Amino acid sequence: VQPASLVTVMFHLGEMVTATQSVNDEVLELLAQELNYKLEIVSPEDEDRELLDTFDITFGEDADDGHAVSRPPVVTVMGHVDHGKTKLLDALRKTDVQRDEAGGITQHIGAYQVRTEHEGQDRTLTIIDTPGHEAFTAMRARGAKTTDIVILVVAADDGVMPQTVEAINHSQAAGVPIVVAVNKIDKEGANPDKIRSQLTEYNLVAEEYGGETMFVNISALKREGLEQLLEAVLLTADASLELTADPDMEAQGVAIEAHLDRGRGAVATVLVQRGTLRIGDSIVAGDAHGRVRAMLDENGNNLKEAGPAQPVQVIGFTSVPGAGDTFLVVDEDRVARQIAERRQARERNAQLAKSRRRVSLEDLNKVLAEGKIDNLNLILKGDNSGTVEALEDALLKIEVGDEVSLRIIDRGVGAITESNINLAIASDAVILGFNVRPEGKARELGEREGIDIRYYSVIYQAIDDIEAALKGMLKPEY
Ligand code: GDP
Repeated sequence: VQPASLVTVMFHLGEMVTATQSVNDEVLELLAQELNYKLEIVSPEDEDRELLDTFDITFGEDADDGHAVSRPPVVTVMGHVDHGKTKLLDALRKTDVQRDEAGGITQHIGAYQVRTEHEGQDRTLTIIDTPGHEAFTAMRARGAKTTDIVILVVAADDGVMPQTVEAINHSQAAGVPIVVAVNKIDKEGANPDKIRSQLTEYNLVAEEYGGETMFVNISALKREGLEQLLEAVLLTADASLELTADPDMEAQGVAIEAHLDRGRGAVATVLVQRGTLRIGDSIVAGDAHGRVRAMLDENGNNLKEAGPAQPVQVIGFTSVPGAGDTFLVVDEDRVARQIAERRQARERNAQLAKSRRRVSLEDLNKVLAEGKIDNLNLILKGDNSGTVEALEDALLKIEVGDEVSLRIIDRGVGAITESNINLAIASDAVILGFNVRPEGKARELGEREGIDIRYYSVIYQAIDDIEAALKGMLKPEY
């Protein structure tokens, strides 16, 4: 259909649009009806399923003839800032009964496992090592369900705060059970009972109050109550979840963190959700692919294989996958590459559509001339995909009003390159570097061309700056 006739039909339907504007699904339905077209709306997930279908691959299920065995629960720690999430993550790591104190150096690879004794049995828990709900939501937004149980940390000397409520909302929306860790009970003025009664308002009723939620008083600082907390997590898992997976299939799961390492290239931590991942496997994660050359656990030990609920650092990707990307193992390198390439192409189209969210290049000049719209183009570079994504998400959430729009025209992991600078020149963009700097030549080029490159190591600072810049660009109201 000619764009012009679409605009006309829309006009008759009472909607003023331009030929390059995006419309929502309902409007598309109307258009299709009006023009007598059969409309099929395909979600990115559907599209990906179709792609995998063509290779006869099913993602997300145990093999038909497989046999599932029980697996460790995967736990995420959430709660308000300063309530002790980081401290708790460190403390829990140290409770591992098998940790080899003398051996390898512990590294933060995005997740770790702790072994504990529970009702006379050795049990393992997998703990996602990124505090807060950003990572949780980012993964959920991509359709990856990684977390089985949430530990909600609430400081007993403070109480329920906005991010506590957010964490509860996110967990409940995802249908993930919560265990409450009432932290900082060592502090003067700590009132753990107050936390229990406050949380009843959010449908978290403590067992001792006749509810179903387990509350455990802890001190992350003094490392008290940690065994009881792990116990409560296992009890909750055993009571309400059936955690099993088939270890005998080609591995599938999710990438939880990834970055570019100078010496080792692309390094990604993946959480195996089913199957067993082995050295030599052909792997594809999001639009990155490769072959597993080495696997390391959080203690720096080399592994030959990793089974369900095990997090491992994988070396061997030819590019950096995104945090929250699902991964799968396929028979051949060729298949991995083809899947990756098809996803890259799709991603490019999606980005193009996204970057045109408010204005398109086609009508930009016109609207600029009319003085209706100003436009800020951004290029994001960071040291790992998680931060770049978090930054992008936060930036796109900035309320900018109708007169200004913000476009992220490119993003990526690694140093700022000449091609980034060239893009900034071509599109009048500002570059945000998150813990990264320009390469030698890129720096010269940027300086010569007067490109505005800003460096950050704290997301909120970047957001604040952009917000301020946007406000400055807003037309004064009379
Ligand atoms: P996060 O922002 O939730 O990750 O909080 P942190 O783990 O960074 O902790 C915030 C502050 O509270 C730090 O100064 C910690 O040392 C302190 N803290 C954490 N847990 C405890 C605790 O159990 N008792 C006391 N007294 N202080 C704690």
